Amino acid sequence: MKMVGERVKYFRGIAASKGYAIGKVQSIQNMGYGALVQKGCDPQTEYRRILKAKDKAIEQLQQVYKDVFTNLGEEYAVFFQIHIAMLEDTDYLEEISQCLVNERVNAEYAVWKISCNFYEQLSAIDNEYMRARGGDIIDISNRLLSCLNPAYALKRRIYNKETILVANILTPSEAVRIRRNNILGVITEHGSKSAHSSIIARMMGVPMVVGVGKAYAELVNTQELIIDGFSGDVVAEPDETVRKKYLVKKARDENSWQDLKAAAALETLTLDGTRMAVTASIGSLENLQDALDSGAIGVGLFRSEFLYLKNEGPPSEEEQFQVYRTLAEKMTGRRVVIRTVDISAMDHRIPFLHTKSEINPALGYRGIRLSLGHKELLVTQLRAALRASVYGRIAVMFPMLTTMMEIRQLKQIVRNVKEDLRREGIPFAENMEIGLMIETPAAALISDMIVEEADFFCLGMNDFTQYVLAADPSNPLVSGLYDVKHPAVLRLLKLTVENAKKKGLWVILCGNSASDLSLLPFFLAIGVDELSVNPADILDVRNAVTGTMLPDDKQKIIREFCQE
Ligand code: PEP
Ligand code: MG
Repeated sequence: MKMVGERVKYFRGIAASKGYAIGKVQSIQNMGYGALVQKGCDPQTEYRRILKAKDKAIEQLQQVYKDVFTNLGEEYAVFFQIHIAMLEDTDYLEEISQCLVNERVNAEYAVWKISCNFYEQLSAIDNEYMRARGGDIIDISNRLLSCLNPAYALKRRIYNKETILVANILTPSEAVRIRRNNILGVITEHGSKSAHSSIIARMMGVPMVVGVGKAYAELVNTQELIIDGFSGDVVAEPDETVRKKYLVKKARDENSWQDLKAAAALETLTLDGTRMAVTASIGSLENLQDALDSGAIGVGLFRSEFLYLKNEGPPSEEEQFQVYRTLAEKMTGRRVVIRTVDISAMDHRIPFLHTKSEINPALGYRGIRLSLGHKELLVTQLRAALRASVYGRIAVMFPMLTTMMEIRQLKQIVRNVKEDLRREGIPFAENMEIGLMIETPAAALISDMIVEEADFFCLGMNDFTQYVLAADPSNPLVSGLYDVKHPAVLRLLKLTVENAKKKGLWVILCGNSASDLSLLPFFLAIGVDELSVNPADILDVRNAVTGTMLPDDKQKIIREFCQE
């Protein structure tokens, strides 16, 4: 006879996304297929096949990018842009080509072999960021193989409802198909906290434990599992006692979300009484519900780009108005900051722009530069936002500024649009706030001048960091240089906030580092007023703020961070 609890087994992995989940197992396997080897092949013929497959894979990825962007938002889609860059990486193709020449094998085998080599090399590197790229290599090589040969077609997995996914590796392509209402949690044999699939799970609020290692073989054959995404614990075949214990923890966890929602109207204060508003950064209406659920007291950044990706042509005023109105109404008086479209003319996803290619698009015709060059797009967007402003509290902000001239032009356009609406008898909020984004070193250095023209500042730390350090975070060759804690970044940030504060201006800080809790004391000390973060991070950031006690000597913290 079996003893109670006899089958219960405990394992431990790395906690990658918080939360508890209890459910039945569904397993998926990646990287295990291998590719059949053929010898005596002509390297040139095989390489031509690879180049053709690569083009096809890039085409597919552009579509994936577009779909994910529209359905989930830019913060999810960006991973597929990285995949395109990886496929274009000459090292990867060079090694495949070497393998074809040296071993005279078929293209499929060379892709598989080189991808496995890359994966193993990355797994052995003593650098969390590089190790985390393993899942991406598997993802792109699966895609390349499927484009080379239909026998390796990508399996579109059907996820059973309400199960716990157990996988050896979870690729980003698979991760974006998870939804909180179909997959309760994820466990992986390999992987790391910084892997793109872990980031996706966190953004979706799905509990995840990675790197369970050898336990994986046992877990795939388990019926029922518990995941503790706080500690990294995994319990296999829980008995009633264990299940009850976790159900209580889970309820408590969910209650803390309920409490948070109830406290949403309350201010977030540190122990010494410093205020910090914590708002949501979202990129679609679908994300709006997450923002509301998370107790956001506003939307500090609404990325409007998804509107431009839906159709062949630009979005109409009415279409945009409906979206902005929904935002305003659902946020019931809480501020929603709409960023005017920040797309690049180089963006292959926006067919109606018809602009020539650029050698250096990050420094090119993007953001407000493009809006000023296509005034009809800007005017339509401003009209839609102004019309929506009577349904709640809408603000508009402009990205990628570098000169006062741009700002004056933009403000003149806003005045003209208002004048037109007045003449047409269309109501709008006369005092709709205009925010100016500080994302370039130029804007930061003249922030004492810009402050005169702004109702608030918004620091977009993703761009700010890449422009200060001249390092592209999606380029593995230089991403190690991209470091928001670099004193150059923090000193310039401090200068900007100081200039804003001299005039009593409200300062929002957004971008990935807004939820970096190790920087929170610095943000508080320099006087940032609002952190706009991913909805899934709101609870953590609020808790961290309320648990912080700033010392009287704030300058000391500032000096330490700035290394002054
Ligand atoms: C940023 O640059 O930090 C920002 C929020 O804008 P983007 O959408 O470019 O990340
Ligand atoms: Mg930006």
